[in-house]
Amino acid sequence: MKIYNPANGQLIDDVAEDSAESIARKVAAARRAQPAWAARSLDARTAILKRFRELVVERKETLAQLLTREVGKPISQARNELNALPGRLDFFLTHTERALADETVWTEPGLTERIGFEPLGVVANISAWNYPWFVGSNVFFPALLTGNAVVYKPSEFATLTGLAIRDLLYEAGVPQDLFAAAVGGGDAGSALLEAPIDAVCFTGSYPTGKRIAEVASKRLLKVQLELGGKDPVYVTDDVDVAVAAAAVADGAFYNTGQSCCAVERIYVHEKIHDEFVKHLVAEVARFKLGNPQDDSTYIGPLTRAAQLSVLERQVQDAVTKGAALLLGGKRIDQPGNWFAPTVLDRADHTMELMREESFGPVIGIASVASDEAALRLMNDTEYGLTAAVYSRSFERARPILSGVNVGSAYWNCCDRVSARLPWSGRGHSGLGATLSTLGIRAFVQPKAWHLRG
Ligand code: NAD
Repeated sequence: MKIYNPANGQLIDDVAEDSAESIARKVAAARRAQPAWAARSLDARTAILKRFRELVVERKETLAQLLTREVGKPISQARNELNALPGRLDFFLTHTERALADETVWTEPGLTERIGFEPLGVVANISAWNYPWFVGSNVFFPALLTGNAVVYKPSEFATLTGLAIRDLLYEAGVPQDLFAAAVGGGDAGSALLEAPIDAVCFTGSYPTGKRIAEVASKRLLKVQLELGGKDPVYVTDDVDVAVAAAAVADGAFYNTGQSCCAVERIYVHEKIHDEFVKHLVAEVARFKLGNPQDDSTYIGPLTRAAQLSVLERQVQDAVTKGAALLLGGKRIDQPGNWFAPTVLDRADHTMELMREESFGPVIGIASVASDEAALRLMNDTEYGLTAAVYSRSFERARPILSGVNVGSAYWNCCDRVSARLPWSGRGHSGLGATLSTLGIRAFVQPKAWHLRG
């Protein structure tokens, strides 16, 4: 499988792709290795995974450079991902013992009732490329800590990072058969699903997630899905407009807009609309676009060339239906996958721009007359990952955030993930939760102990 640098189209590596047979062999080896791993004490497993954390910290600059070369993430943002990773891993290292502890829920003379937790077995981790360290480790790290084997299929657009993860896990002491990387694209993912796994944890788009859930349902596999979003922000009329515009611009354009929780729709109160748009456009125009290896670059290339035509189509559709193109709006004609940061005003829900995930440096803005109108529009979507309200008053923001059908609600912040809180999507945004103690329990199954005597 050939791997290209999305910033300039140059070939950077050529790696061997897995076949259905090699994936089946890896799953079988993982199954054989899992009971011995689960039989080790939690302390023993924790020590190995702590070592993995240390290795990531030691090698972070090399790993950040690799991430930038392979997915085009601006180097400062690649470093941010690597720098934030240890904190996430620490959450799991600290909280797994409590999450796995047996719970005695009833005792009476001659009877004890207790809940125990056992690993699922072999977990398939089919992953995305946009934050490969975060979304990969949300699954493989707690899955390994809780005693499972993992067959990890990194995205075909983040394969080298996936292989680096595998090598660091081995170097830390994870047995080679217990964790395997399956290299390839959709075919490798399908082959992994066909193999005798016990659970599939998927991060990626809604269409692929739906297909995975359909296949998994036929075998009653445990399924967890972290999917896309069309995340709205509502800016009320009581904010510091410049500050809110800067925060929302960052939420929409960080990682070149390729975040599952990137701001994808902006609703702004009509009283501050013009001022907000002026500040937002100025902010976006200031973002430095260029070589992702430069420290000062904020906007890089798109990771996947195919997304360029999605963005072009969204812009064209929006403009045809009456949106005002204030900035950008087209590809940048140079090698690699470049799209100019784009702002469209007077967007409405007849436009794909406000309905389909853009997953790139493109944002639509709509003016609203009231909080009620904003809430109605925020909920007018199939997705339900995150939503944000910017307002000085939590009393004002709270009913809106309570009423919006999403897994994460943000007041005066956006595009944010915390390892302490569950990460979950509703509707087309997913099933189940990662992170938090719920994201540890996701990798074990309960056993009810009825003890007489
Ligand atoms: P994608 O759906 O194209 O691919 C995801 C993974 O599925 C890849 O590893 C791919 O090879 C694999 N795959 C493709 N077809 C398959 C099949 N038929 N069977 C099994 N596996 C298959 O998504 P992507 O482009 O890698 O990621 C972008 C999407 O991921 C966006 O929609 C984004 O919002 C979403 N995402 C969500 C979260 C979250 O936590 N909710 C996090 C990151 C990304």
